[in-house]
Amino acid sequence: MTLIEIALIVFILGVFSLVLRTVVVTVRDNTERATARARLTYIQRQVNLYAIEQGHYPPDLDALVAAGYLPCIPEVAVGRHPPSSGVIVGSAPFAAAPVDAGGWYYYPVEGSVHIACTHRDARGVEVWKW
Ligand SMILES: [Zn+2]
Repeated sequence: MTLIEIALIVFILGVFSLVLRTVVVTVRDNTERATARARLTYIQRQVNLYAIEQGHYPPDLDALVAAGYLPCIPEVAVGRHPPSSGVIVGSAPFAAAPVDAGGWYYYPVEGSVHIACTHRDARGVEVWKW
């Protein structure tokens, strides 16, 4: 085997490795996004159900758990944030005061739930806007 053949094999392995890494990262991001969005939709629906049945939005997401609307606050893992079920209860609409702490952001005046992340996903959309 000549030096050129060895260099060609190393090059091909390098390209293959790069493609494989890109595929793995894309699949992981898509799974993470789908899970986070499903959980966000679920929590938002439970907040809305609570509001319909109780006549007001819950003061925080723990109130949903206490009243039996959620078994627990689910974790959310997006981007570089570690999985978290933490909730920031905001006193301002999220759009006016973005936070990038990971976990959930809840605005009780409007009963709106967001993911507390201002990073952009692979499609360029800011995560809190999902
Ligand atoms: Zn973030």
